[in-house]
Amino acid sequence: MATVTGTPAIGRLGGKNAIVTGAAGGIGLETSILFLREGANVLMVDISEPALAMAISKARSMAPHVTGSVTTMKCDVTKEEDVQAAVESLDPFGGVDIMFNNAGIMHADDADAVDTPEKVWDLTHDINVKGVWFGCKHAILSLRRHKKTRASIINTASVVALVGSATPQLAYTASKGAVLAMTRELAIVHAREGYRFNSLCPAPLNTPLLQNWLGDDQAKRHRREVHFPTGRFGEAIEQAQAVLFLASDESNFVNGTDFTVDGGMTKAYVTPE
Ligand code: NAD
Repeated sequence: MATVTGTPAIGRLGGKNAIVTGAAGGIGLETSILFLREGANVLMVDISEPALAMAISKARSMAPHVTGSVTTMKCDVTKEEDVQAAVESLDPFGGVDIMFNNAGIMHADDADAVDTPEKVWDLTHDINVKGVWFGCKHAILSLRRHKKTRASIINTASVVALVGSATPQLAYTASKGAVLAMTRELAIVHAREGYRFNSLCPAPLNTPLLQNWLGDDQAKRHRREVHFPTGRFGEAIEQAQAVLFLASDESNFVNGTDFTVDGGMTKAYVTPE
């Protein structure tokens, strides 16, 4: 565990405690940096300790004049005791205000209805769905424990929860659909407690999750890029900016949305040549 302590709280998230899961990856790291810059105290959690060590070092260099604190903790979101420990670690500091359930995988062996191995289905759902449920559950318990009347929980889904894909990844698609449905219901159930729940639906991005899988295969890459009206994949920072809005009080009346950040991809019939 590592900590950086800063000066008094200012910014769009000044004084709020935030947890980011999958914080060592593309969207999670960019979001942690923005949260820090906006005055939040950020607990970055991830399954990979070496990746977290690199991530906190980048967070420090990208947010050198932080007003909050940044801490890392190893956490496998499929293990309830890990998620509970991460959330409860903030109890001495007033508990969590912002929970970004973002950890997720897209397995290389994910395929169609016929070829997806059952173990890939189960692993994908354990991380992408059960991990989000555990994050929501322990955030709610913490919010109630600390008698909070305002909070924002953001769960990462995907545009494939909104549109079908002819390059199948059935376990992933189904898992992200589950995130949308779960988030919507939580938003309604907890609205009167002041706890907002929104889904983030990113388009395919320039992050390791997709780019490592595409590698140098230009045909595979083009198959996807052609569907973007903008002609390009998204960037993790563009997702992080949306998460910052959803996390902040500026989005106080935004609840239960499938917040789509896709450069218009899901609205296109054909795209410009
Ligand atoms: P990434 O691979 O860069 O980061 C994901 C992070 O999650 C990694 O640091 C990884 O170590 C961590 N992780 C994996 N399993 C974990 C577990 N069991 N417990 C805790 N941490 C775990 O991916 P990214 O692109 O930043 O994706 C973040 C989220 O965005 C994911 O939910 C992903 O499905 C979603 N998403 C990504 C894209 C894309 O094109 N990259 C598109 C739509 C949605």
